[in-house]
Amino acid sequence: MSSNHELFQHASERLPGGVNSPVRAFKSVGGEPFFTARAEGAYLWDVEGKRYLDYVGSWGPMIAGHNHPMVRAAVERAIGNGLSFGTPCAAEVTMAEAITRLMPSIEMLRMVNSGTEATMAAVRLARGATHRDIVVKFEGGYHGVGDSFLVKAGSGALTFGVPSSPGVPKALADLTLTLPYNDADAARVLFAERGDRIACVIVEPIAGNMNCIPPHAGFLEALRELCSAHGAILIFDEVMTGFRVAPGGAQQLYGITPDLTTLGKIIGGGMPVGAYGGRRDLMQQIAPAGPIYQAGTLSGNPVAMAAGLAMLELVSAPGFHAPLEQRTAMLCAGLEQAASAAGVAFTTNHVPGMFGLFFSVGPVRSYAQATACDVAAFRCFFHAMLERGVYLAPSAFEAGFISAAHGENEIETTLQAARESFRIVAKAAA
Ligand SMILES: *Cc1c(COP(=O)(O)O)cnc(C)c1O
Repeated sequence: MSSNHELFQHASERLPGGVNSPVRAFKSVGGEPFFTARAEGAYLWDVEGKRYLDYVGSWGPMIAGHNHPMVRAAVERAIGNGLSFGTPCAAEVTMAEAITRLMPSIEMLRMVNSGTEATMAAVRLARGATHRDIVVKFEGGYHGVGDSFLVKAGSGALTFGVPSSPGVPKALADLTLTLPYNDADAARVLFAERGDRIACVIVEPIAGNMNCIPPHAGFLEALRELCSAHGAILIFDEVMTGFRVAPGGAQQLYGITPDLTTLGKIIGGGMPVGAYGGRRDLMQQIAPAGPIYQAGTLSGNPVAMAAGLAMLELVSAPGFHAPLEQRTAMLCAGLEQAASAAGVAFTTNHVPGMFGLFFSVGPVRSYAQATACDVAAFRCFFHAMLERGVYLAPSAFEAGFISAAHGENEIETTLQAARESFRIVAKAAA
């Protein structure tokens, strides 16, 4: 099996949709995915030997570039001592101290194996600590695949949620309420009605799963005030933004202190790792220190800790984030210019290391605006870029990522491909 097509045919026989995670399947852009054989720096190579300039970065972890020599060396060293112990190991302590140093709102934490596990455990903790059941989240927010998160808004902001996937019990969905992102007034109304029943508000402090939408000034502040006033727990889901947008995550960038934070992606350096943590008085309620149960056979795995620690060392080095920010800005400005020259309605959002592309006149500040973009134009652009060796996220609703290995040459190559691709989009629309 040496071609992408042949592999995808075989994969589709044995894996639902041919993949182990849905967005990889190219369903929303059409066509078939390529199968990666190797990755290095800013590039992927598929099994046919074609090279792609990669703006997905394994969906976030590869902020230092693929296969970074320091991360690889750390993993190789750790492997020499064994793959898993099932007892405490020193690397877990080093990891806990590294995370709490970078994110001071995290006084204690628990390592887990994915972002999904982190958010599920954080919600259980919030419910257990407050003795309340209602979870508030935001439209277009993504917090992994726990049942309580696969819920969409009912007919109004104050109605109970409805399952967004078969298999999620209605009785559980009733306990999740969904508000519009960047709408502090909607949150105020909800808290005025039900504040005494809300266990927690979980929010991506920069929305990165409905493309990239930064918070309005005052939005996160309002959530902080409402949670404090009503005794609810504020959870920042920084699985994507943690250590990406600043060494201390979005909470450092915006100066807001959540009660709990969920982490993933970058803290594993490419290995399956997540974590949740925050206020000591809350974390002390987790078993075996307290009664709220959560456990994991491979949690704190020594090889995963080694990869994550090497990655955290890279991202916490002084001056790591400034060039990321510069190149993200350079890329977005160049793309807007190229679109405008081709007469294509297009706008971008960006924060350091993370960007969103929208086929719309913009600005895009809400879920409703993000979903109103021209998806057909995105598809056309995606495939034109892919043909030119530039791999964007295969969905109009995913953020793009830049790594430290994306230099000015890579940005210029991308913009050259984009100038041609926008002309193709314009022609297709005409
Ligand atoms: C990716 C992501 C998750 C889920 O993490 P997994 O490791 O895929 O389970 C949760 N929250 C946010 C904000 C994410 O971006």
